[in-house]
Amino acid sequence: MSTNILKITKQYDTQAKCLSYLKSLRWGKTVKCPNCESDKIRERKSQPYQYFCKNCKKQFSVFTGTIFEGSRLPLPKWFAAMGLMLNAKSGMAAKEVERNLGVSYKTAYYTCMRVRIGMLMEHTSKLTGIIEMDESYFGGKARKYKKIPDNEQSIGANEITLKRGRGTNKVSVAGIVQRKGNVHTEVMGKLTKRNLLAMLKHYASSDNSILMTDGFKSYKAMDAYIDHLTVNHSKQMSKGITHVNTIENFWGSVKNGIKGSYRAISKKYLPFYLVEFEWKFDHKLYKGNEFEKLLKNALQHEKGLLYWKAKSTQNVKEVAYGK
Ligand SMILES: [Zn+2]
Repeated sequence: MSTNILKITKQYDTQAKCLSYLKSLRWGKTVKCPNCESDKIRERKSQPYQYFCKNCKKQFSVFTGTIFEGSRLPLPKWFAAMGLMLNAKSGMAAKEVERNLGVSYKTAYYTCMRVRIGMLMEHTSKLTGIIEMDESYFGGKARKYKKIPDNEQSIGANEITLKRGRGTNKVSVAGIVQRKGNVHTEVMGKLTKRNLLAMLKHYASSDNSILMTDGFKSYKAMDAYIDHLTVNHSKQMSKGITHVNTIENFWGSVKNGIKGSYRAISKKYLPFYLVEFEWKFDHKLYKGNEFEKLLKNALQHEKGLLYWKAKSTQNVKEVAYGK
């Protein structure tokens, strides 16, 4: 369901209205100290929505520990940015947010990055049923290429085909999806059996599940953990239910999005974008209030920390999952 941006900007047109909404989403009726969880708190009379914890003597606000912490962007603009990003089915460039919100490019860029962290979901249940696993490759320059020989049909003379995927220095990303379910991705240094199997075990249950992959030899190792069918790409794209079309469609949406909306993305920041595309994929059929769900998710404690850590050190998912 698409998000009604006009409704959001009308309903939450002042900082106070936004703060009240965030407060209710984060704490409901009882404000709790993010530091010690105590509800013995006092709201500062001179500064509404600023709290003092009588237990640990710390000050905090609804922003503390979240992606909103330390941002000077007024909340109505934050909300608009989030609405815009949710509605942009194939991604929203910071340049567009800059234009729509009338903020600097830098502000737009960092706000978008924080919103992506807000989209990082903790998944409590494992994938099950029909599961597809596949890898894809992003960015970088292809190392090997060959000219198409003259005797082969080609569109233009001297056309160069780039050798894509396995064996190039692109960034490899592994993905796993449950049909009619959620998708997860991981940037992988090496697509080894060990790494792929660890990812499979992390996200998927082997009970009542069946795994579909292509013939890449590293997937052979999965047989010991889960029922496994291999799709032979050279023969046909799919045979009945045996296919990896779901995950391939997901890669297609990420690639289109990156090509259309974003300029070159560095290896370090690719995971931020992957989080965004995972969110979009997982919410394609979501019937609830996606905007509110995103706000709630973004208000989780530690999300802010995740953002600052990921920005300065490792990629966001490595930080999130402690790898
Ligand atoms: Zn406290």
